[in-house]
Amino acid sequence: MMKKIPYGHQYITDEDIQAIVEVLKSDFMTQGPKIAEFEQAFAKHVGAKYAVAVSNGTAALHISAMALGVRPGDNVIVTPLTFVASANCVRYCGGNVCFCDIDPDTFLMDLNKLEAMLAAKPKGYYKGVIPVDFAGYPIHADGLRQIADRYGLWIIEDACHAPGATFLDKNGKKQQAGSGVFTNLTVFSFHPVKHVATGEGGMITTNDPELQYKLRCYRSHGIAQDSSKLRENRGCWYYEMQELGFNYRITDFQCALGLSQLKRLDWSLECRQKIAEKYNCAFADYPQIKTPFVAKDVYHAYHLYVIEIEDRKGLIDYLRANNIFAQVHYEPVHLMPYYQDLGNKRGDLPVVEHYSQHCLSLPMFPTLTEKEQDYVITKVLEFIK
Ligand SMILES: *Cc1c(COP(=O)(O)O)cnc(C)c1O
Repeated sequence: MMKKIPYGHQYITDEDIQAIVEVLKSDFMTQGPKIAEFEQAFAKHVGAKYAVAVSNGTAALHISAMALGVRPGDNVIVTPLTFVASANCVRYCGGNVCFCDIDPDTFLMDLNKLEAMLAAKPKGYYKGVIPVDFAGYPIHADGLRQIADRYGLWIIEDACHAPGATFLDKNGKKQQAGSGVFTNLTVFSFHPVKHVATGEGGMITTNDPELQYKLRCYRSHGIAQDSSKLRENRGCWYYEMQELGFNYRITDFQCALGLSQLKRLDWSLECRQKIAEKYNCAFADYPQIKTPFVAKDVYHAYHLYVIEIEDRKGLIDYLRANNIFAQVHYEPVHLMPYYQDLGNKRGDLPVVEHYSQHCLSLPMFPTLTEKEQDYVITKVLEFIK
């Protein structure tokens, strides 16, 4: 039997290891030069003015919600098809999470349903919206921005699945996820299954200088990061904690790894495209398998390759028995017991509920070999025949 094939896996090269070792031999383990270097390289890569690196993607979401001023009782619209962290960041600030169902083809937040939600309440009832570039499919952020502007909403784009993804805006111009052109803040994660892996790690990109300053303060206890902003100055040792922040810092050796990994991001996206094409071809003649829809103007980052199938449980069990660890992304967030206890229930969001009973993520990572992928395809087809 094949060795275990997971749905996602990090790829660490000797060059990556060398980059980490160099930092460990230097004077800085944390708060050294590699952090700014990684931030600048990442901002450049996604086309944003600023990037702020933090300890993980969840921390990035939390201080993003803080920086946009989420307060107890504020209503924020979130997609239910995501990892729980996209919604939890609102709860950390005491806000209410209001779920908006997904589009059955793209699996992204359904903008028609979003508009209907917004129109049903007085302006100002909702403060912001948190869409997710699910599986690596970028939201058309220009369209969302138009809606958000009409209703006075801020946007935090959760692009943890989508560094490097692009789409064409209404003028036919290529736009990158996280460029800061249409969203207030965009959040990324560097968890090992994500495109760029640093163990734990996260990044926020933006074009707004005030927001990036706030994020830098919140990342480090709420301590003022700019001496011109001090209320007084008692001397060279002096620092001021002006708001309640956290220790959400990332280390220098993680940023060195991130820098090294970032150099391979474009290559890894190409690998993912090829793997997706091969799956698409292999399943094209089998209507029992619904393969991912991708609009022509979209460059998909393929964090996940999701198929939909009637007997999902049967297939997942069959694949596991053959050492293929397919996964479900995701059980809908509104049906997590915590969110059910807050008043959400089955039946609230029929599209995502149907999707989540049939979806399955097949192995998708740059170092998946042709032999391994052939084996996965064979086992899937064996099951459905
Ligand atoms: C991974 C992920 C997160 C959380 O990132 P961590 O770095 O694990 O905290 C948030 N949202 C989405 C969509 C993710 O995939």
